[in-house]
Amino acid sequence: MQLEKTLTNLLGKEIKDATNFEIYLALQKLVKEMVNSKPDIKKDKKLYYISAEFLIGKLLSNNLINLGIYKDLRGLLENNGKSLAEIEEIENEPSLGNGGLGRLAACFLDSIATLGLNGDGVGLNYHFGLFKQEYKNNKQYEEKNDWITPNSWLKPTDISFEVPFKDLTVKSKLYDIDIVGYKNGVNSLRLFDIETIDESVVKKGIDFDQTNIEKVLTLFLYPDDSTKEGQLLRIYQQYFMVSNAAQLIILEEKQKGHNLRKLHKHVAIQINDTHPTLVIPELIRLLSKEGIEMKESIKIVTKTCAYTNHTILSEALEKWPYEYLEQVCPHLMPIIEALDAVVNSKHKKENVQIIDEDRKVHMARIDMHYSHSINGVAALHTEILKNSELKPFYKLYPEKFNNKTNGITFRRWLMHANYDLAQWLDSMIGTGWHDNANELQKLLYFHNDYNALEAIDIIKQNNKKKLITYIKERENVDIDPNSIFCIQIKRMHEYKRQQMNALYVIYKYLEIKNGNIPVRPITCIFGGKAAPAYTTAKNVIHLLKCLQDLIENDPVVSKHLKVVMVTNYNVSYAEKLIPACEVSEQISLASKEASGTGNMKFMLNGAITLGTIDGANVEIREQVGDENIFTFGESSNQVINHYNNHDYVAKHYYEKANIKRLVDFITDPSLVKYGDLKALTDLQNELINKDWFMTFLDLEAYINTKEYVFSRYEDRLSWRKMMCVNIAKAGFFSSDRTILDYNKEIWNLDE
Ligand SMILES: *Cc1c(COP(=O)(O)O)cnc(C)c1O
Repeated sequence: MQLEKTLTNLLGKEIKDATNFEIYLALQKLVKEMVNSKPDIKKDKKLYYISAEFLIGKLLSNNLINLGIYKDLRGLLENNGKSLAEIEEIENEPSLGNGGLGRLAACFLDSIATLGLNGDGVGLNYHFGLFKQEYKNNKQYEEKNDWITPNSWLKPTDISFEVPFKDLTVKSKLYDIDIVGYKNGVNSLRLFDIETIDESVVKKGIDFDQTNIEKVLTLFLYPDDSTKEGQLLRIYQQYFMVSNAAQLIILEEKQKGHNLRKLHKHVAIQINDTHPTLVIPELIRLLSKEGIEMKESIKIVTKTCAYTNHTILSEALEKWPYEYLEQVCPHLMPIIEALDAVVNSKHKKENVQIIDEDRKVHMARIDMHYSHSINGVAALHTEILKNSELKPFYKLYPEKFNNKTNGITFRRWLMHANYDLAQWLDSMIGTGWHDNANELQKLLYFHNDYNALEAIDIIKQNNKKKLITYIKERENVDIDPNSIFCIQIKRMHEYKRQQMNALYVIYKYLEIKNGNIPVRPITCIFGGKAAPAYTTAKNVIHLLKCLQDLIENDPVVSKHLKVVMVTNYNVSYAEKLIPACEVSEQISLASKEASGTGNMKFMLNGAITLGTIDGANVEIREQVGDENIFTFGESSNQVINHYNNHDYVAKHYYEKANIKRLVDFITDPSLVKYGDLKALTDLQNELINKDWFMTFLDLEAYINTKEYVFSRYEDRLSWRKMMCVNIAKAGFFSSDRTILDYNKEIWNLDE
């Protein structure tokens, strides 16, 4: 009643007479007012989570949930013939992130505020962010994503700093986004920008002149870095981000009257991957300017900073030419030299030096020498860091290494994305799981209750129907609701092995052509963007799109098999896809997926994992038991040995008839008809002659296991039990648990 009155007042008319746009604006106003009346979370010690990415997703529903009015409002709108889902379509999804790392940062901010911890995110306000994906002739094209509108959630502040570069000094401008904790107070996401930005320099696609720093600095996330100009621009961005962060920290510490010599008592800094690394030398520089001698500054900063490693892919461990850094921020070089000298005086091994023999500066090495904590993001990943990838550093600093298995916020990935399941859970096991995710285990009481198990499946089938409508609208593809939904959605990368899944599709296509009809139709849904310069990943998209067309145009096969490569996969799309998924495809080459968080979202929503023994899949298996997950493929140790011994030869696998037949089909005229012979040939050659991520190693095991999964699906009762166990055991993967671990072992925010 109260809510209805408030909303009607804000609208100046009856809800039923208002347009969705009017309601959206009114709701945003309502949220902003409610947030303003909430206390800021204030405690003595504060965390600054610095990250190049925050993949936060749309905020309206999330804020309504965390303010505690989501359910009432949904009902109120429904009673007036309105749909909150449709209203939320008006909001643009902020384009401030790329994939798992950015989404993790967003889940963390939600959990930090929910747990009442004092912690802000710090990053950049990219105007066009990550590109928007489009397809032309079955190929990916990139367009700018101009997501910022007058009614975005960004709040301008009057905080501004001068950031000195070699040839110019720029003035920053800070924007805040409120981060509301579930039933708790408010933190902020602090996004720095410059006022001189000029959006008009981007003419076509995502191309622009990268040299005019004052105009282009905060246009794009991860601008093309295949040229020197591009690499310089990335360094400009990174230095701009961390200089602002460091100045903000010092300003706030001074305002609180804290002694900068005790910085680590009042401040914790989490360095999310290597992009914010330069905050270490920058803070040392600024503390020295405050009159603290260098040696002590280094100690203070080391005690303040902690580093999270997100990948063992060596190409992702940034190293910049010394002269490039010198061109952007020459004033940091004496400090980087000093940091390097300290390392060099203690350790002679080349592989731990900050500045290497080629005069490249290794970002992760700065982090590891000058942070007090180094963490991996899943148990297996942390073990691989300690035992192989970062072994030299583990030997130097065993006490710094620790694991923090990733998590996801259940507010967004269950309460919002799967409202029906959340409501049903409330009715079955109460609402305790809202605050303590482990209470989902209460669902196990119903593990043998036929009606409860059926109810879970009815919700799933219903979500499938909703997704079918959504995909029909977006992609104009018809999907059979009776088919089994297998979904692989994540950034396109060879290590994630979408190409192996594509080869399965070819296998199934040929089987059906040969008259081996599956008992139930199969729907294979893909989504993901390829980095603009990553040709092989783009060619995999091309293959998938061509397969989609080939099958769509085959009246026999299309009754039994469907491929959909969705357009512009992002958080909003994920929220639709995940609740409808039955088989969660997590098929990375073992040892390569640091954690994965998509796997957790799927499990929480009742999908069964079909995966390799990699990343957090290992811990999912531990939670649900072998009988509630389908694993296959060689182990991470076996894979690491293949790399060490150089004994994986793709061509040898290719010569096996079963594999050859599938790979050869990539350039079959019937398929090439829908695409580009060169792109498909390049991909085929890449697989046969290189295949750095060992697609063929597990291909047969993958096909066999997937066939087994489909046979198990037909035992509906046992499948529903698996769904039930997966939901019940997902509690461990709540980001609330992850954040409690970070706080207890790294940040100590409530001391
Ligand atoms: C969760 C999420 C990811 C990460 O997915 P992985 O399967 O763990 O790689 C990437 N993008 C979006 C939009 C997500 O929501």
